Amino acid sequence: MITARKVFTLGFVLLLGALPWVVGSYGQTLLDYIGLATIVVLGLVLLTGVGGLTSFGQAAFVGMGAYTSAYLSTVAGWSPWWGLAAALLLVTGAALVLGWITLRMSGHYLPLSTLAWGLSIYLVFGNMQAIGGQTGMSGIPPLHLFGWAITTARQYHYLIWGVVLLIVWTVHNMLDSREGRAMRALKGGTLMAEAMGVNTTRFKTILFVLAAQYACVSGWLYAHMQGFVNPTPFSLGAGIEYLFMGVVGGIGDLWGSVLGSSLYSLLRQWLQDVLPQLLGRTGSFEGLAFGVLMILILQRAPEGLWSHVRALGGRWRQAGAAPSAPQAPPLGERARPAPGEAVLQVRELSKRFGGLIANNAISFEVRAGEVLALIGPNGAGKSTLFNCISAVDRASSGQVSFLGRRVEHKDSRAVAAMGMSRTFQHVRLLARMSVLDNVALGAHLRGHHSFVASAWRLDRAQEASIQATAWRQLERCGLAEHAHQAAGSLPLGLQRVVEIARALATDPCLLLLDEPAAGLRYLEKRNLAQLLQQLRAQGLAILLVEHDLDFVMGLADRVVAMDFGEKIAEGLPREVSRHPAVVEAYLGGLDEPASQPAGEAA
Ligand code: ADP
Ligand code: MG
Repeated sequence: MITARKVFTLGFVLLLGALPWVVGSYGQTLLDYIGLATIVVLGLVLLTGVGGLTSFGQAAFVGMGAYTSAYLSTVAGWSPWWGLAAALLLVTGAALVLGWITLRMSGHYLPLSTLAWGLSIYLVFGNMQAIGGQTGMSGIPPLHLFGWAITTARQYHYLIWGVVLLIVWTVHNMLDSREGRAMRALKGGTLMAEAMGVNTTRFKTILFVLAAQYACVSGWLYAHMQGFVNPTPFSLGAGIEYLFMGVVGGIGDLWGSVLGSSLYSLLRQWLQDVLPQLLGRTGSFEGLAFGVLMILILQRAPEGLWSHVRALGGRWRQAGAAPSAPQAPPLGERARPAPGEAVLQVRELSKRFGGLIANNAISFEVRAGEVLALIGPNGAGKSTLFNCISAVDRASSGQVSFLGRRVEHKDSRAVAAMGMSRTFQHVRLLARMSVLDNVALGAHLRGHHSFVASAWRLDRAQEASIQATAWRQLERCGLAEHAHQAAGSLPLGLQRVVEIARALATDPCLLLLDEPAAGLRYLEKRNLAQLLQQLRAQGLAILLVEHDLDFVMGLADRVVAMDFGEKIAEGLPREVSRHPAVVEAYLGGLDEPASQPAGEAA
């Protein structure tokens, strides 16, 4: 099928091929620099646009790429290709160390440490006499490709933009895969991603290292194209400029990086040429005018200029076909415990938040093929209990056994891998990702191909199976018609159902649902109840927190009632609903609003 994207890509490639024959030598040099910047900015699209992490220090990695190869090819006489290998090794090592120190910490640690990093590496370049200090190094040999020396700006044009296209293609493939979804899930916060089995630290590290490696390649190309290097292009200011190019173009899209670096470089050049002529003297006005212009662009297009281009493409796409089922065998399923077997055993579980006892010595059991409902007024401690069971949070004391194994000291990833999956009271979907992709994230642990394989499209059979599996869960939950819509565009009630489909895509034995029916209309509630009955009949164990007593009464096999962190009753739905303590708890809470308290964890 001819998509807007394919037409655009083809047009862009043709344009790139033709440009060197149209622009003069000055324009050609500018184009080469734009290409080099684009390579760095593509890394930032991954790091910032996909991973939500910010780095001001990319210029330092560019410099390391340039200087390592410059030194090895001039002083040690190495081939530039070996220089590239050495530079990549060095940069990867540095990024791993830097990432290891900072990526676990949240908030401003990473941006700040990249600032410090960018600053200190720049000072090293300027002060190390072995690499020429402030003067830098010259006499760097040109690159050779298949025996041909690459010397002219035009030759470098094809090499540099070839690298740009290769990176765009591989990154595009990578993001459109199992591990790519996991990378994109980082923006949804670590809590949800980890609960789906995603090792968030690993993926943050991968993004950080990839971005550093792209920067390194850019620096390497630069050094051999120029024939000399000095510290100036690798300053902290350059690092900030790269980030700026990404943001102006649109840090959320690969093509945004091309647009951003082109526009940024052309505008700056144009102002440097034009303003002095207009004003009749040279000065610092171009810097000022440039700053004002950039702020205006950002103000008009806060998501970057590419978002406007994409909106045009989106109009084209909407004329496309309705969603249809992917044709691939779904993934295999795990063996489930026999109906009636104990799946989850909670014993004397307590959770304290400072002086507040949110759960006090709670015990109960859930068996395969049964729905156990947890009821209780707002603040009773139900979500807290869910978090402790699913290892999102750690219990203060007590035991949780899942399929006969103790899990209270495991992390949520390990618990997810064992077959426990959950939804969140406050929906945690990736709003911009399609419904189908959100659900496919649930199947993360059921695939094995790495991001490297997917970059070269070696994972297609598995990815098709993941999509088919996700589609099946969507159909099961009555959401197939919404498969290609952005998850955030659905009404909140349906978003909860998407969360259930995502949990089902993990192939669970135990499903934890935190208020799944909240916000659903009558008919949707009935469909949900039917779905849960079906799942129960298939042998799933379901633990359900619910406010709506009518919904629970018609569905649950057993009910556990909580109030103020205590278990106050347990039994058949009818018995529990008449239990004096339950009646008291619910009547006492009648004048409270039905919405949830604000400071909740999940
Ligand atoms: P429920 O889900 O039954 O409405 P919660 O489990 O969300 O109740 O909350 C139980 C109690 O624990 C409430 O008083 C709530 O304010 C408190 N609580 C929940 N999470 C935290 C937290 N992370 N820190 C401190 N208090 C919390
Ligand atoms: Mg709750």
